[in-house]
Amino acid sequence: MLNIVLFGPPGCGKGTQAQFLEEKYQTPQISTGDLFRFNLKQETELGQLAKTFMDNGQLVPDEVTTNMLCEHLDNHPNPHGYIFDGYPRTTTQAQKLDVILAEKYNKEVSITVALVVDDELLVQRLLERGKTSGRADDVDESIIRNRIKEYYAKTAAVAEHYKAQGKWVEIDGVGTIEDITAKLCAAINDVL
Ligand code: AMP
Repeated sequence: MLNIVLFGPPGCGKGTQAQFLEEKYQTPQISTGDLFRFNLKQETELGQLAKTFMDNGQLVPDEVTTNMLCEHLDNHPNPHGYIFDGYPRTTTQAQKLDVILAEKYNKEVSITVALVVDDELLVQRLLERGKTSGRADDVDESIIRNRIKEYYAKTAAVAEHYKAQGKWVEIDGVGTIEDITAKLCAAINDVL
């Protein structure tokens, strides 16, 4: 079982790269952002709860997010593993993911790959994406900047969790999609 955590700030390219890795390693992408957006669209109770946080570019509370992730894992069993895109985003979530993988599968995170992109480029990329993504949180620059602020306030510290476990690799997230995929695959192949 190969469990890949794709890590980095909003707009670093996690979602794009996850799509390429899915096929190559037969590990489905799990994007907690996509799961929340699905719930928003379906107007579920969970969607209603997440909406205010998402609209403001803030993180949804840990317990809500982790429960949603667990339910998704139970409904989508895959013996090859998973690509986690956008989870964990806090140290509490990172600790939780270790427990979940151990309890459910007797497994661990195999590798965490962080895509590094300069903040101003992130803002430009997200504004560009906002022209077609249909995402309200990609259109407004102040919400985008708040998402990046949340990343530094709550998410960046997750690096220490994985560095301590020797499972942390950083990759330059600027370049062609193909070049970045190649670098990601090289890092992942090292732990196969
Ligand atoms: P994303 O699609 O990954 O950019 O996520 C969009 C929004 O969903 C974020 O700004 C958060 O409000 C929420 N979200 C997604 N993943 C998480 C997570 N792991 N923890 C808390 N909130 C999350």
